[in-house]
Amino acid sequence: AAARQLLRIVIVGHVDHGKSTLVGRLFHDTGSLPDGKFEAIRKMCERRGMPFEWAFLMDAMQAERDQGITIDTAQIWFKTEKRDYTIIDAPGHKEFLKNMITGAAQSDAAVLVIDATEGVQEQSRRHGYLLHLLGVRQIAVAVNKMDAVGYREDVFTKIEAEYRDYLASIGVTPTFVVPVSAREGDNIATRSQAMEWYDGPTVVGALDSFQLPATSVDRPLRFPIQDVYKFDDRRILAGRIESGRLHVGDELMFSPSNNTARVKSIEVWPEPSDSDARPNTVGAGQCIGITLDDQLFVERGEMASHTTNPPVETEVFRAKLFWLGRKPLEKGKIYKMKIGTGEAQVTVQEIEHVLDTTDLSSSTTSKVERNQVGEVVLRSRRMLALDEHTRNGRTGRFVLIDGYDIAGGGIISMEGYADQRQL
Ligand code: GDP
Repeated sequence: AAARQLLRIVIVGHVDHGKSTLVGRLFHDTGSLPDGKFEAIRKMCERRGMPFEWAFLMDAMQAERDQGITIDTAQIWFKTEKRDYTIIDAPGHKEFLKNMITGAAQSDAAVLVIDATEGVQEQSRRHGYLLHLLGVRQIAVAVNKMDAVGYREDVFTKIEAEYRDYLASIGVTPTFVVPVSAREGDNIATRSQAMEWYDGPTVVGALDSFQLPATSVDRPLRFPIQDVYKFDDRRILAGRIESGRLHVGDELMFSPSNNTARVKSIEVWPEPSDSDARPNTVGAGQCIGITLDDQLFVERGEMASHTTNPPVETEVFRAKLFWLGRKPLEKGKIYKMKIGTGEAQVTVQEIEHVLDTTDLSSSTTSKVERNQVGEVVLRSRRMLALDEHTRNGRTGRFVLIDGYDIAGGGIISMEGYADQRQL
């Protein structure tokens, strides 16, 4: 049988608009719940005299996951006829925005939930903007709780028009806007009898129409060095390959030191008992170690690439930065930047533009407040190796730390700045 496809999705939207309920429904209506799970939760609610909530299902699965009862502790899955899906963040999670901007919740597509009884809210806008900023281009909007508004077409049409307008103003075309009732199961996996006026796909239909991302294996090699181990006389450079492929014998460049060497061996753990079993080639997503044919001094934080297609080297770059910090980002201030496996001190050289993500009003000030997006110029004291976000979504982003807290996350643009390696 051919390998099944996997699409990673996030479910976003204002609190209480029905994200957990939708997730519970998606699992149930696609037949992806473990046997007996639904019944167990239903009985538990009965025993305690509580109304059944679909969100309890997800809470129960989350609890098992946290306790390590389920085997796959990293992700939760549901399946359709077409492919597998993994939901990469628990809705309502406190750290949700943080996870999105740090890339911990990097997704291929999103479902954005809006409560039909409340309409478009601040968070609906903010999340839409953030998805766009981070390059998530496949977005299905679910207008939920249609049962609570009598399944009325005019209520749906009004919300759809308002949200499409907002998205259009930031350059996003949502793939589908679907009227649903997560609680009743309308237009989740099966077509609603109560909304004959709607002729688009269900949520599952919309998800199944999404494309898999161009595989990062086909992009230039990016291997950020996480650790350097010394064993006997060998030095092993370890990390995760973010994009591309790496072969024994390849000539690598380390940036920003600009040293080069060839790959002597690829090491994997646990070590194969037979030395012939060591791989000759590895690709994006794999955690590996390598040894080199030359005893170079390589540090954590350096980026390995092929010599033919290295990252940009620069001390200054432009960024779009989503700010979460309690204290505003200020011009002239120094922050710690984490990029890939490396760190650097950066100064805010310029704040060119500040955008409020809820009403899209923009201003030119010397501060970026919490929940605003700043177009800024950052300068580092030392050379940095980085990629433009449009060229590499994984290595083209960074996080700023204020004190001990993640205070902002951004994407890199080199517009107006030259690659100093080429000067
Ligand atoms: P979340 O905070 O976005 O995850 O929202 P929940 O899934 O926890 O839902 C919030 C509340 O809305 C709960 O009381 C749900 O029962 C209710 N709810 C969710 N979906 C629907 C729906 O389709 N119709 C109605 N009437 N209520 C719903």
